[in-house]
Amino acid sequence: MDRYRIKPGHKVRLDRFDPADTSAFDGDKARGQKRLLKLSEKLADLQELLWAGQRHRLLIVLQGMDTAGKDGTIRHVFGYVNPQGCRVANFKVPTLTELAHDYLWRVHQQVPGAGELVIFNRSHYEDVLVVRVHGLVPPAVWKKRYDHINAFEKLLADTGTTVLKFFLHISKEEQRQRLQERLDDKQKNWKFNVGDLAERKLWSKYVEAYQDALSKTSTPWAPWIVVPSDHKWYRNLVIAHHVTRALRKLNMAFPPAAPDLENVVVR
Ligand code: ADP
Repeated sequence: MDRYRIKPGHKVRLDRFDPADTSAFDGDKARGQKRLLKLSEKLADLQELLWAGQRHRLLIVLQGMDTAGKDGTIRHVFGYVNPQGCRVANFKVPTLTELAHDYLWRVHQQVPGAGELVIFNRSHYEDVLVVRVHGLVPPAVWKKRYDHINAFEKLLADTGTTVLKFFLHISKEEQRQRLQERLDDKQKNWKFNVGDLAERKLWSKYVEAYQDALSKTSTPWAPWIVVPSDHKWYRNLVIAHHVTRALRKLNMAFPPAAPDLENVVVR
């Protein structure tokens, strides 16, 4: 599973990562699903410790092309986590107030507080992705942002936040099938957005923008993990693996009991 983590300074070429890869489980979906159940329970236990300790913070960033599975990841990987202490922040087209500030302003307000696990469904990376692809600001402006982002994430890391960033990697053909499913399946119609078709035409521009972002902002304090996402079960496993591992590394324990607790009698 470590091979999906981008080493700092590595120049990423997405065509070198197979979006349909399931090699860590030899394509064995049943075994993978069993493992995911175990990891989900482990994740719930670790989040309990995180929340009880009120000390560490965990930030998960989810990025990917449309239909890559950001929503599904939140449901399937974090579904067992106690909603108390866990929050999802969505980043959409900025409002006028948000646009009146620097682009990290709205993001900084949403980072986790003590004990919290926060999932970013899209993030500040949109400011070097959609903004770049659509030319919403000149290149001289977005090119500076990689340095800002690295410094911002360093600030978070230095002040007790573990930052993990997942790029959900799907193939263009898989996206075609998922968009078609949203048209064909009545229960999925609500997810279909005509605008996604226009974005799909810009696929190669997005690949370029993602490759640059992944290459320039995978740091020791906030690594990117390229998640093979054509198979949903495998995507969930890879993410659950990395999240639980990062939480384990914090070596958390429940806070010590109040002194003299053994002499307290409940009448
Ligand atoms: P989602 O696709 O995440 O389920 P929406 O369909 O509401 O949700 O899409 C949100 C849109 O907001 C996306 O197209 C995304 O690219 C866009 N967006 C997010 N951040 C920015 C930004 N900083 N500037 C411009 N557009 C943005």
